[in-house]
Amino acid sequence: MTKHATSKGPNLRAIPSVDQLLRSEAVDVFKVSIGLPRLTAIVREVVDEIRAQIQLAETPTPASDKLLNEALRRIRANCDREATSAIQRVINATGVILHTNLGRAPLSDSARKAIQNAAGYCTLEYDSSLGSRGKRGGRVEELLVQLTGAEAALVVNNCAAAALLVLTVLAREGETLVSRGELVEIGGDFRVPDVMANSGTRMIEVGSTNRTRLADYERALSDDTRLIMRVHPSNYRIVGFTQSPEISELASLAHQHGLVMYEDAGSGVLADLAAFGITDEPIISESLKSGVDLVSFSGDKLLGATQAGLIVGKRDIIAKLRKHSLYRALRVDKLSLAALEATLEAHRRGALEEIPALRMLAMSPAEIEQRANAFAAKLTSSASTIEVSLVAGQSAVGGGSAPNIHPATTLIAIEHSTLRATQIEQSLRTCSRPVIARIADNSVLLDLRTVEPSDEAALLLAVSGLDR
Ligand SMILES: *Cc1c(COP(=O)(O)O)cnc(C)c1O
Repeated sequence: MTKHATSKGPNLRAIPSVDQLLRSEAVDVFKVSIGLPRLTAIVREVVDEIRAQIQLAETPTPASDKLLNEALRRIRANCDREATSAIQRVINATGVILHTNLGRAPLSDSARKAIQNAAGYCTLEYDSSLGSRGKRGGRVEELLVQLTGAEAALVVNNCAAAALLVLTVLAREGETLVSRGELVEIGGDFRVPDVMANSGTRMIEVGSTNRTRLADYERALSDDTRLIMRVHPSNYRIVGFTQSPEISELASLAHQHGLVMYEDAGSGVLADLAAFGITDEPIISESLKSGVDLVSFSGDKLLGATQAGLIVGKRDIIAKLRKHSLYRALRVDKLSLAALEATLEAHRRGALEEIPALRMLAMSPAEIEQRANAFAAKLTSSASTIEVSLVAGQSAVGGGSAPNIHPATTLIAIEHSTLRATQIEQSLRTCSRPVIARIADNSVLLDLRTVEPSDEAALLLAVSGLDR
């Protein structure tokens, strides 16, 4: 022996090799779940990581069997993370109905079935009675026409895409007038000035943040004006000293000058939802009756379907939008069309209680209190380290809709004899069926408004799991 490892220097030979790890039984199982190429990459990363740590370490290199176990532990953790899909089912206990981070509107049973049906081959662009090519999205357009009284309709990927399409086709290289009070930013980076810039229209701001008059629009008209745009300031409200012209006045002004009047309405309220507490979201059919030429709105807000941008209005203008190559790039897939069809059919039947977002919105304070009481009783009897109390609170519509509507609710406050609120919240969120809750005043709060009754058992299981 001429040379021996000093007790201080790193001993890189103690590190398991990539081949050795790939041959081990504990690693082999992951070949099936994530495939050999990805598994090999993970094993390499782990070996590199361990080597780098050993080279930097001041302490003696651990024995080879310790390093082997550590490598296997890290490989297993990385593979487990990759084998579970990023999109997991969760229980939304936040009380925010259209939770953008949690997928906005939960779909109705019939919309879920429609997606399942359309998942294989389907009559997306095929007319089975004629045996020939059919019109993609034709039924959804028909339903939109019936529900809004519009002459025609068109469906694109989301409301942002709808605005981009309208502005590009109708106002590119021209000017679009918009009030300074409507230059909004809406969840997920939709910003009116940015969409205007991307479409190639010149945005002409009129009026002030809180007050804009018809005369402001009139003064801003020029030979280059193509469009007057009204944007519903979905997620905020200006209160106090405010003014804006009636949409019918704006439409008349647009038509006197041969321009198009376009409204970005946001949430997509098809019928009066006053009974649900929704009073200041535009109703699409009323906008059209006021003379608006085109209205766009989202599919996954109060309409309660999948992500989509729905455009309704004048036949000739819709035809122009449809012909543009941008429409082809923005069109929606068969799964969204299937869910939209089913959801719009529920709207047409007036069966709003079938649409989960609306059903949750309509839930009475008494009903929620009763459910919260029953839930708290079950929890108290099954868990000794958890303290449960009920507190009055508010739910929210979310999704950038109806920001001043706060339906009254009963919150279930969870406290634990040793865990802090942030620990409880984390533990719930990392369950096999994650529970998303809010924290206020050092306790974790659950709002049953957004929890489907059929999910209550799973929620109970998750919360009782804290009992230790
Ligand atoms: C929500 C909203 C949008 C964006 O809609 P997406 O469907 O999320 O793209 C655009 N405009 C208004 C007024 C909105 O409320």
